[in-house]
Amino acid sequence: MNKLKVYFAILCDQELIKKSLKIALVVGTLLNIINQAEILLALDFVNIDYIKSLLTYMVPFMVSSYTAVSMKMKFKIGDTTHVNTTLMCKGCNQVIQVHKDEIVPVCTNCKEKTQWRIK
Ligand SMILES: [Zn+2]
Repeated sequence: MNKLKVYFAILCDQELIKKSLKIALVVGTLLNIINQAEILLALDFVNIDYIKSLLTYMVPFMVSSYTAVSMKMKFKIGDTTHVNTTLMCKGCNQVIQVHKDEIVPVCTNCKEKTQWRIK
């Protein structure tokens, strides 16, 4: 449950949404041109499949935002945290609290082999 809360907290980051929207605009436009080239180039607005167009923009938005969020949820040592949360060391089960914009520390037991997971 906490993992889901962290996921949505990161997903609501405005910078992440802006970047995902930019990617969706560029990639979605290219894919729409590929998928409906004849209709779009003829400016045949009656026969454009608007649902297909919308979905074509949504797919790159979802892929890019999912990728960004999943990368930010790794909590690698030395990375900056994006949310307040509780982490548990995969190696020794040590639990720590991290706060937004902190540097992810090493586990005092596992040192450079530390791998955190959200508790
Ligand atoms: Zn550890």
